[in-house]
Amino acid sequence: MHDSQPAGITILGATGSIGVNTLDVVSRYPDRFHVIALTANTDVEAMAVQCERFQPRYAVMADTDAAQRLAKVLRGTAPDVRVLGGKDALVEVAGLPEVDYVMAAIVGAAGLLPSLEAARQGKRVLLANKEALVMSGALFMQAVHDNNAVLLPIDSEHNAILQCMPENYAAGNAPRGVRKIVLTASGGPFRTLPVSKLAGVTPAQACAHPNWEMGRKISVDSATMMNKGLEVIEAGWLFDLPLEKIKVLIHPQSILHSMVEYDDGSVLAQLGNPDMRIPISHALAWPERIDSGADQLDLTAVASLQFENPDKQRFPCLELACHAWQKGGTAPAILNAANEVAVQAFLDQQISFTSIPRIIEQVLEQCTVHDAASLQVILEDDAAARRQTMDCIGSVRMQASS
Ligand code: NAD
Ligand code: MG
Repeated sequence: MHDSQPAGITILGATGSIGVNTLDVVSRYPDRFHVIALTANTDVEAMAVQCERFQPRYAVMADTDAAQRLAKVLRGTAPDVRVLGGKDALVEVAGLPEVDYVMAAIVGAAGLLPSLEAARQGKRVLLANKEALVMSGALFMQAVHDNNAVLLPIDSEHNAILQCMPENYAAGNAPRGVRKIVLTASGGPFRTLPVSKLAGVTPAQACAHPNWEMGRKISVDSATMMNKGLEVIEAGWLFDLPLEKIKVLIHPQSILHSMVEYDDGSVLAQLGNPDMRIPISHALAWPERIDSGADQLDLTAVASLQFENPDKQRFPCLELACHAWQKGGTAPAILNAANEVAVQAFLDQQISFTSIPRIIEQVLEQCTVHDAASLQVILEDDAAARRQTMDCIGSVRMQASS
């Protein structure tokens, strides 16, 4: 990137929690960043406000009806914005030649194709959409490598680890001299709730994260700790490490965002307030540093940092994810699909919180795992796992009502 011209950016999932935080940072540096495209799923109102403010060249709604409604609104308020609709348009704006950086912040498998396109087009990929890497890690990392894309993780833990890696380290390579990495986890809202009460928790309770304000899906994933399971897989791909070199530690304050332990016993950690604008700014400005807008860390106010091992009985999703990764092939894609469908069913109050891991386990037993050699195989197994999960949810609900 040359200094004089601002970097062109596409923000996939602009109306979400990560998208909004990204625009907050971008808005502070109009001479560094120029918004080329914003995308969302259905939230026309939020997208219209963002378009009026940032005047992107393109606004994409994945939902085509929503795109029509947006076009109508913008005709009056931002007529220069080109409105596109549908999934193909998400991919299109991720790969535009005038785009230098792509913030991949769509939630779930829906983000896979546009995130992958950014890698294939050799962009700087700011990856929040961990599900894309969980589903297609080998293909994704190959696309990054083959096209000289720059992959910078936005997940606070992975961003912390990248910051603690040796100088000139690039994602995808096995780091030298590293004994292990430690991913920290807050433990979510149910870290200390009696296990016997987990079956009765509500979606609102599950989404009330103690430290972070996030979208509903990742909030539930944090409550089950599937989020950390997905992050173990994400870390495995990003840092080319086997499962035994990735440790998970509960750290309820969410101040120490992860660490790298070296062969000589040195442990490097990155600390900061729980504010996603910090990793977002790191990746946007990399290798430079800019003010993210986050409050300065006051360790005397935090006073103490605690660490404990995760309780496997309380958080079965963590083990399920590690097993799926050990199994390899499309098993992580199947796990991810089952999780997305089960979490949605929990949010829709169709199943209990504790049914989530039970259903995922069943789906993993019932679905055939294939070699994750092509996108087609991955997407087929994702679809099969979704159907299987719907069936399991149906049986769980039948049992509950009989
Ligand atoms: P969110 O629910 O707040 O936002 C999701 C965004 O994706 C929205 O803009 C929505 O319109 C869009 N979207 C949803 N479904 C879509 C579909 N089918 N097609 C196209 N677009 C769709 O989610 P979030 O919390 O911002 O999380 C986004 C991603 O970042 C997730 O993968 C999450 O795991 C990851 N992440 C989030 C945080 C956080 O603090 N929020 C932290 C680490 C990682
Ligand atoms: Mg994280």
